[in-house]
Amino acid sequence: MSHRVRTYAALSKGQKLQPFEYDPGPLGPEQVEVAVEYCGICHSDLSMLDNEWGFSSYPFVPGHEIVGKVVAVGDSVKGTTLGDRVGIGWFSGSCMHCLQCLSGNHNLCPQAEGVMIGRYGGFAERVRSHWAWCTPIPSGLDVSKVGPLFCGGITVFNPIIQSQVRPTDRVGVIGIGGLGHLALQFLKHWGCHVVAFSSSDSKREQILKLGANEVVNSREPGQIKKLESSLDFVLVTVNVSMDWKSILRTLKPKGTLHFVGAVLEPVPLEVFDLMTAQKSVTATPLGSPATTRTMIEFCARHQILPVTELFPMSRVNEALAHLRAGQARYRVVLQNDFS
Ligand SMILES: [Zn+2]
Ligand SMILES: [Zn+2]
Repeated sequence: MSHRVRTYAALSKGQKLQPFEYDPGPLGPEQVEVAVEYCGICHSDLSMLDNEWGFSSYPFVPGHEIVGKVVAVGDSVKGTTLGDRVGIGWFSGSCMHCLQCLSGNHNLCPQAEGVMIGRYGGFAERVRSHWAWCTPIPSGLDVSKVGPLFCGGITVFNPIIQSQVRPTDRVGVIGIGGLGHLALQFLKHWGCHVVAFSSSDSKREQILKLGANEVVNSREPGQIKKLESSLDFVLVTVNVSMDWKSILRTLKPKGTLHFVGAVLEPVPLEVFDLMTAQKSVTATPLGSPATTRTMIEFCARHQILPVTELFPMSRVNEALAHLRAGQARYRVVLQNDFS
């Protein structure tokens, strides 16, 4: 079975997306082919479009927050059948035989395959993935909003599992955007006391509605100082530098400063600031298939969904510009309108 897949691609760095077709070749024995219904847009799509990380290849088809229906399965596919509705995130495969894969940490597999790295992503009518990386979507979740959970969602849910955040913890979330607004919802339903750090006072009401118990303005040193020694865990979702020394001071003894935002500048750390009160600085990437399944079931149980803005996929350039301008509230989703 061979056919052309229609997509939207940038033909070179910084160019607008335009229609682009490719031949996906024969379906691999462990691969699933999914007809894309929706695909979220993530900041990483912009970073990759701009080759900010130096490993983009062109034509580049973005898209790694994919939701759709299984339309073809390879001969050795397990756990997924035709017609299933599944989600695919950053990864579309891993080796399945290294120690990481065998221990359930497929997301740490050295050979993990990015869905839009060296292949074509989800701004398309179809996309393929290894069956293990297709997460079944429970019924009862609004399918048009689920996509961003597979990158933005799992990015902020994974640390709750990996760092064993407890319901009794007081947790800070820095940056209330695409990632942070999901972190607030997860942590609220986890049972934590949640302090949102936002640079924009205009979001205050909505931040409280999303689950924060308190909102502090991250640009006002006085407000951060008031939090000294009060937090067990601080989750950083921004990718810009902050006054990290002051942020570290908001932690209780044994507290953890945790990064999921890819802050590009080095973070200056003084060992004494960590040592005296036994504090830690940690970071996590996206989660494993098992953690992703745990997340999506937790979302179904509590109706946790991103706040989204929907664009038809044919207006992808407009949607990207909207995100680039910092206007997304809070996550943009494209709906497949290939006719
Ligand atoms: Zn992403
Ligand atoms: Zn592996």
